[in-house]
Amino acid sequence: METVLVVGAGQSGFGVATSLRDKGFGGRVVLIGDEPGLPYQRPPLSKGYLAGTAGDAQLRLRPEDFFAEKNIELIPGRVASVDRDGTKVVLEDGSAHEYDHLVLATGAVNRVLPVPGSTLDGVFTLRTKDEADVLRAALESAENVVVVGGGFIGLEFAAHAGRPVTIVEAQDRLMARVATPEVSAYFAALHEKAGHTILLGKGVAALRGEGRVAEVELSDGSLLPADLVLVGVGVEPRTRLAEGAGLAVANGVVVDEHLRTSDPKISAVGDCANFPCVQAGTATRLESVQNAVDQARAVAAVIAGEPAPYDSLPWFWTDQLGAKLQIAGILTGAEKTVVTGDREGGKFSVLSFRDGVLAGVESVNRPPDHIAARRLFAADPAPRFETLEANSFDLKATVA
Ligand code: FAD
Repeated sequence: METVLVVGAGQSGFGVATSLRDKGFGGRVVLIGDEPGLPYQRPPLSKGYLAGTAGDAQLRLRPEDFFAEKNIELIPGRVASVDRDGTKVVLEDGSAHEYDHLVLATGAVNRVLPVPGSTLDGVFTLRTKDEADVLRAALESAENVVVVGGGFIGLEFAAHAGRPVTIVEAQDRLMARVATPEVSAYFAALHEKAGHTILLGKGVAALRGEGRVAEVELSDGSLLPADLVLVGVGVEPRTRLAEGAGLAVANGVVVDEHLRTSDPKISAVGDCANFPCVQAGTATRLESVQNAVDQARAVAAVIAGEPAPYDSLPWFWTDQLGAKLQIAGILTGAEKTVVTGDREGGKFSVLSFRDGVLAGVESVNRPPDHIAARRLFAADPAPRFETLEANSFDLKATVA
């Protein structure tokens, strides 16, 4: 009987295990994870779970009996190494588990702020449920909250922290890596209206305090009082196992269009995988639920003997201060944008074009536009500027 072993019981590892069963795979499915408890989803950690409106039940991907029903073996523990010659993994406790196919779904770890004081008490990152629990408790007594990093995690934290915070961002606008200036400006105004202070173009030089953080020193020498600092400055893919096993690694575990690593018996999916992204036109690593879920399905199909090149459309969402941003496609490298809808009223979409072709659509409080954008990309992966222009940039009309 064939054994598929999955390292990492997060969104994509869980997805591989369940998708294998959905595909009728009859062999052993073993899911090894180093976090306590059942597999859970991360998005609520910086949203409802942080705000206290969502609990454990909303985090859990499935209840315990699901795993027995689907005959998915859950093994707690951290895999320390992969023995490719012996086709087995070895856990930190010394136990070994054999595989016929191995899937690396090891996710990512938060980047540490490379400045003095980054390990002081009162300095937090947010990726795991354990971190969210500690952060939630610390928020109750915190007076001066500083968020370092104006990306999705920092902004969602700010939006759900339930008090005014100061957001420090090194770039000249919020979400600069992933959103257009139009969308950045809308969310900056929203956060300012909620009472948050946004400091753009400021780096952090140090976190100061005796054992506990008391101040954030900015690159211009100014000091911000702080008894809680949330650092959201991005993640690094967890590639240690792949490197140790001699697999190709470059900004993630390098995989081909079937999500296979340089060893055909080993695949990688989700946040840890660097894959040839059709929409980006280059090797890319994405950090999203869509990417984790769709790659998990694709790998399960490969293992079940129905391989198809991975080409799913990337999409993403974030919820902040009652506003929903949904992004379809990849905006990188776009040189032209068109805004449709009601920008002042906070219901609009930004269409981004690269080389005369629609590259991505950001929809702010316009879910029907997001759905239409996804349908449009499904019907035509490269919709031309002229085609949209002929329809007054109305996505629904273009797809109809
Ligand atoms: P993970 O979910 O990180 O799972 C990897 C697992 O592998 C972890 O449990 C890890 O501990 C385990 N592991 C690693 N190494 C080993 C080892 N050697 N042995 C055993 N286990 C190991 N995406 C969206 O699309 N929308 C959102 O709104 C959104 N919000 C988010 C909010 C937060 C706070 C965070 C942190 C992420 C959010 N994301 C969101 C991103 C999304 O959750 C991730 O892209 C997704 O979880 C990636 O899944 P993954 O399985 O690749 O990695």
